[in-house]
Amino acid sequence: MEPPDLLEPPRIDEQNRRLCHATSKRTGEPCNAPAMHGMDVCRIHGGSAPQARRSARQRLLDLVDPAIATLAREMEQAESSSDRQRAANSILDRAGYARLPKIDEDEARDILVQRLIELRDARVSRATRGANVIEGAVTEPRKAHSRETE
Ligand SMILES: [Zn+2]
Repeated sequence: MEPPDLLEPPRIDEQNRRLCHATSKRTGEPCNAPAMHGMDVCRIHGGSAPQARRSARQRLLDLVDPAIATLAREMEQAESSSDRQRAANSILDRAGYARLPKIDEDEARDILVQRLIELRDARVSRATRGANVIEGAVTEPRKAHSRETE
Protein backbone atom coordinates (compact mmCIF):
# COMPACT_ATOMS: atom_id res chain seq x y z
CA MET A 1 0.00 0.00 0.00
CA GLU A 2 1.46 3.33 -1.01
CA PRO A 3 1.13 6.37 1.23
CA PRO A 4 -1.93 8.41 0.27
CA ASP A 5 -1.37 11.60 -1.66
CA LEU A 6 -3.00 14.16 0.62
CA LEU A 7 -3.01 16.84 -2.07
CA GLU A 8 -5.19 14.73 -4.30
CA PRO A 9 -8.92 15.38 -3.86
CA PRO A 10 -10.81 12.43 -2.39
CA ARG A 11 -12.30 10.07 -4.96
CA ILE A 12 -16.02 9.48 -4.56
CA ASP A 13 -18.39 6.90 -5.97
CA GLU A 14 -21.77 7.52 -7.62
CA GLN A 15 -23.45 7.49 -4.18
CA ASN A 16 -21.11 10.32 -3.08
CA ARG A 17 -19.17 8.07 -0.68
CA ARG A 18 -15.45 8.72 -0.26
CA LEU A 19 -13.37 5.89 -1.68
CA CYS A 20 -10.43 4.13 -0.07
CA HIS A 21 -7.02 5.80 -0.56
CA ALA A 22 -5.17 2.51 -0.85
CA THR A 23 -3.92 0.84 -4.02
CA SER A 24 -4.71 -2.82 -4.52
CA LYS A 25 -1.54 -4.96 -4.34
CA ARG A 26 -3.13 -7.53 -6.60
CA THR A 27 -4.19 -5.24 -9.47
CA GLY A 28 -2.08 -2.14 -8.85
CA GLU A 29 -5.27 -0.12 -9.31
CA PRO A 30 -6.79 2.23 -6.72
CA CYS A 31 -9.12 0.42 -4.30
CA ASN A 32 -12.75 1.13 -5.12
CA ALA A 33 -14.24 0.20 -1.75
CA PRO A 34 -15.83 3.03 0.27
CA ALA A 35 -13.62 4.43 3.04
CA MET A 36 -14.83 3.77 6.59
CA HIS A 37 -16.46 6.67 8.44
CA GLY A 38 -13.90 9.26 9.47
CA MET A 39 -11.11 7.35 7.74
CA ASP A 40 -9.18 7.40 4.48
CA VAL A 41 -9.19 3.63 3.96
CA CYS A 42 -11.67 0.79 3.66
CA ARG A 43 -12.03 -2.07 6.15
CA ILE A 44 -9.68 -4.33 4.19
CA HIS A 45 -6.94 -1.68 3.92
CA GLY A 46 -6.67 -1.13 7.67
CA GLY A 47 -9.81 0.81 8.49
CA SER A 48 -10.93 -1.79 11.01
CA ALA A 49 -7.59 -1.97 12.86
CA PRO A 50 -8.02 -0.81 16.48
CA GLN A 51 -5.48 2.02 16.16
CA ALA A 52 -7.17 3.25 12.96
CA ARG A 53 -10.57 3.24 14.69
CA ARG A 54 -9.14 5.04 17.70
CA SER A 55 -7.53 7.77 15.61
CA ALA A 56 -10.68 8.17 13.50
CA ARG A 57 -12.72 8.55 16.69
CA GLN A 58 -10.20 11.08 18.00
CA ARG A 59 -10.38 13.08 14.73
CA LEU A 60 -14.16 13.26 15.13
CA LEU A 61 -13.92 14.27 18.80
CA ASP A 62 -11.44 16.98 17.85
CA LEU A 63 -14.17 18.49 15.64
CA VAL A 64 -16.81 18.64 18.39
CA ASP A 65 -15.58 21.85 20.04
CA PRO A 66 -15.14 23.73 16.74
CA ALA A 67 -18.61 22.50 15.67
CA ILE A 68 -20.18 23.84 18.86
CA ALA A 69 -18.29 27.11 18.44
CA THR A 70 -19.61 27.41 14.88
CA LEU A 71 -23.19 26.82 16.04
CA ALA A 72 -22.79 29.32 18.87
CA ARG A 73 -21.45 31.94 16.45
CA GLU A 74 -24.32 31.21 14.05
CA MET A 75 -26.82 31.52 16.90
CA GLU A 76 -25.60 35.02 17.70
CA GLN A 77 -24.59 36.44 14.34
CA ALA A 78 -26.66 34.80 11.59
CA GLU A 79 -28.39 37.24 9.22
CA SER A 80 -31.86 35.75 9.44
CA SER A 81 -33.88 35.04 12.54
CA SER A 82 -34.72 31.53 11.29
CA ASP A 83 -31.01 30.68 10.90
CA ARG A 84 -30.32 31.91 14.45
CA GLN A 85 -33.24 29.84 15.75
CA ARG A 86 -32.11 26.76 13.83
CA ALA A 87 -28.65 27.03 15.38
CA ALA A 88 -30.15 27.53 18.85
CA ASN A 89 -32.46 24.51 18.40
CA SER A 90 -29.57 22.41 17.18
CA ILE A 91 -27.60 23.25 20.32
CA LEU A 92 -30.61 22.56 22.56
CA ASP A 93 -31.28 19.22 20.83
CA ARG A 94 -27.70 18.08 21.37
CA ALA A 95 -27.73 19.26 24.96
CA GLY A 96 -30.73 17.00 25.60
CA TYR A 97 -33.49 19.63 25.72
CA ALA A 98 -35.89 17.88 23.37
CA ARG A 99 -38.58 19.98 21.77
CA LEU A 100 -42.16 19.07 22.68
CA PRO A 101 -44.21 17.73 19.80
CA LYS A 102 -46.29 20.46 18.19
CA ILE A 103 -50.08 20.21 18.38
CA ASP A 104 -52.07 22.33 15.96
CA GLU A 105 -55.42 23.93 16.71
CA ASP A 106 -57.49 21.18 15.08
CA GLU A 107 -55.68 18.44 17.00
CA ALA A 108 -56.16 20.35 20.25
CA ARG A 109 -59.91 20.71 19.51
CA ASP A 110 -60.21 17.00 18.67
CA ILE A 111 -58.48 16.04 21.91
CA LEU A 112 -60.73 18.39 23.90
CA VAL A 113 -63.92 17.15 22.20
CA GLN A 114 -62.88 13.53 22.75
CA ARG A 115 -62.23 14.25 26.44
CA LEU A 116 -65.62 16.01 26.83
CA ILE A 117 -67.41 13.08 25.19
CA GLU A 118 -65.67 10.68 27.59
CA LEU A 119 -66.69 12.83 30.58
CA ARG A 120 -70.29 13.06 29.33
CA ASP A 121 -70.49 9.32 28.70
CA ALA A 122 -69.16 8.64 32.18
CA ARG A 123 -71.82 10.92 33.68
CA VAL A 124 -74.59 9.42 31.53
CA SER A 125 -73.64 5.91 32.56
CA ARG A 126 -73.54 7.00 36.24
CA ALA A 127 -76.95 8.68 35.72
CA THR A 128 -78.47 5.55 34.20
CA ARG A 129 -77.20 3.61 37.21
CA GLY A 130 -79.12 6.03 39.44
CA ALA A 131 -76.28 8.20 40.72
CA ASN A 132 -76.96 11.87 41.48
CA VAL A 133 -76.44 14.09 38.45
CA ILE A 134 -76.72 17.87 38.57
CA GLU A 135 -79.53 18.80 36.20
CA GLY A 136 -78.31 20.62 33.07
CA ALA A 137 -74.67 19.77 33.60
CA VAL A 138 -74.81 17.03 30.99
CA THR A 139 -75.47 18.05 27.41
CA GLU A 140 -77.35 14.95 26.32
CA PRO A 141 -79.14 13.63 29.38
CA ARG A 142 -82.69 13.60 27.95
CA LYS A 143 -82.61 10.07 26.58
CA ALA A 144 -81.16 8.69 29.75
CA HIS A 145 -83.73 10.51 31.89
CA SER A 146 -86.69 9.63 29.73
CA ARG A 147 -85.60 6.01 29.73
CA GLU A 148 -85.38 6.16 33.53
CA THR A 149 -88.88 7.61 33.87
CA GLU A 150 -90.55 5.26 31.39
ZN1 LIG B 1 -9.41 -0.29 0.25
